[in-house]
Amino acid sequence: MPALVEPHGGVLVDRFVAPSDVAAFQERARFLPRIDLDARELADLEMIATGASSPLTGFLGLADYESVVRRMRLADDTVWSLPVTLAVTEAICAALVPGSEAALFGAGRLWGTLEIEQIFDRDPLAEAQAIYGTVDVSHPGVAYLLSRPRWLVAGPVRVLPLPDDLPFAARRLTPRELRSEIAARGWRTAVGFQTRNPIHRAHEHLTKLALEMTDGLVIHPLIGETKSGDVTAEVRFRAYEALVANYYPGDRTVLAAFPAAMRYAGPREAIYHAITRKNYGMTHFIVGRDHAGVGKFYSPYAAQEIFERFSPGEIGITPVKLDATFFCHACDSTASSRTCPHDASHRLDLSGTRVRELLENGGELPRQFTRPEIAEILREHYRSTGNGNGNGNGHGNGHGIGDGDRPPVVVLPGRPEAPSSEGGFILWFTGLSGAGKSTLANALRTRLAAERPVEILDGDEVRTFLSAGLGFSREDRDTNIRRIGYVSRLLARNGVVAIAAAISPYCETRREVHRLAVKDGVPFLEIFAHARLDSLIARDVKGLYKKALAGTISHFTGISDPYEPPRHPDVVVETDRETVEESVARILEALRDRGLIEPRSAPPVSAVAATA
Ligand SMILES: [Zn+2]
Repeated sequence: MPALVEPHGGVLVDRFVAPSDVAAFQERARFLPRIDLDARELADLEMIATGASSPLTGFLGLADYESVVRRMRLADDTVWSLPVTLAVTEAICAALVPGSEAALFGAGRLWGTLEIEQIFDRDPLAEAQAIYGTVDVSHPGVAYLLSRPRWLVAGPVRVLPLPDDLPFAARRLTPRELRSEIAARGWRTAVGFQTRNPIHRAHEHLTKLALEMTDGLVIHPLIGETKSGDVTAEVRFRAYEALVANYYPGDRTVLAAFPAAMRYAGPREAIYHAITRKNYGMTHFIVGRDHAGVGKFYSPYAAQEIFERFSPGEIGITPVKLDATFFCHACDSTASSRTCPHDASHRLDLSGTRVRELLENGGELPRQFTRPEIAEILREHYRSTGNGNGNGNGHGNGHGIGDGDRPPVVVLPGRPEAPSSEGGFILWFTGLSGAGKSTLANALRTRLAAERPVEILDGDEVRTFLSAGLGFSREDRDTNIRRIGYVSRLLARNGVVAIAAAISPYCETRREVHRLAVKDGVPFLEIFAHARLDSLIARDVKGLYKKALAGTISHFTGISDPYEPPRHPDVVVETDRETVEESVARILEALRDRGLIEPRSAPPVSAVAATA
């Protein structure tokens, strides 16, 4: 049997209470002061107890804590990238005495005890800046950190055997169990794949690329706490099981649960994910684009580059650094920017939000994007959680490779037989009269016209010709929007950038237009031009808002007719707070993010008067 990789720090930690001592241990714990752990801390406790977080034997003391925050090493120089801490309120602190013990409770039961070595306080903002690179509370890791008390209690733990009723108990292999599985299979090398999302074809491709190089693959989805909006672990597991059963070689693949909680610490978490996988017996670990990232807090390759700051020996597991992959229509295969010579217009993308919308509305996910078995499981899930923003994945829910929350990088296409839009796409402005839709449409035309043909479908012009005779009832408004959508698709399918600038007041109709575009393989961006009503009134030279408010114009959207703002627009431009140039720059940025235009190739914006 081949020797397995050495655990991090040399020894695989085991902090479990022996079965024969359980009764006495429980009895003694009844008399100890009590600390209640939240889901994150419980996950950390399990990681420590099983040895997944070797060499840690407990929650970090001051010297280790400061060293980890400052230089990503424990005080003894061992590489360790995330502070594993136990926070307590000042009131609880008062009941704790260094040198004595405390009982660790969570989710209504006793989990173990902690030998109190130290109690100290931390600077949460300094920790946030060091670990997450930001103190912005829109970062879920920062928000969590700032919600916790600043007092930390430190010391080694002892933990009761894990209860049998934990989720995925059968798949929750401890490092010892996974190591013996790897040994029994005779693998000399094993590559780990971390994910917290459903596995689409792009991710499957990555895992199989890695499996070309190693003896075995461990699909190791994280099942600890994630931010709301990520697909639940239950649903993901059903999808993983279907995928592994049908598309992976059984003797070379293991599916196991990774009990850690998600921190979204990007590069630092990539290091943690790698060294904990070494403890599970893996020799290689896939680090994709924006691994463990969220929003735009980390640069796409930061999580790969951080490994270069350490010697291979001190990490002890080989990062397999892979780029984002996608389906390219011109290559007619899955590819990456390293292997495909074609420009971004040949890849069509589907963000997490779009995947959900398609499935909720009975649409099909292209087979090159998602295996049909997986699509069905997701469809069932989205239907049961209701549509709209029920379980809102919001923007970009991490269909990015590895882990990232960046929406569009990976992905691809319309139906297999759908024509490529050859560079065309639809920019759909929605917003009240006077909110700046036409102004922005014209400014964008100036910017994009050098690259490719651009046509504007302006609501007012369309009503003069294409929709002459239509009124302002809901039915007529919808008909008008459907016609604009139809013409936009025709244009985009032929390589034209179609910019629609019409009020388009109804969510459902906009979604229908969007859905039809996706079915045609046409990328679609919804842009919400927003301004406060008082600004609209102030800039309204024709006095239409005043007349509507006075009741002399009927069916005036926003006053006497409804306007439903978009729930998940791709871009929101605040036209009363930002200049036209700023709004245009943000829209171009979104187009670059989606790979619809080349980075920084558009000429500088010409001055455009900021009128509606
Ligand atoms: Zn290609």
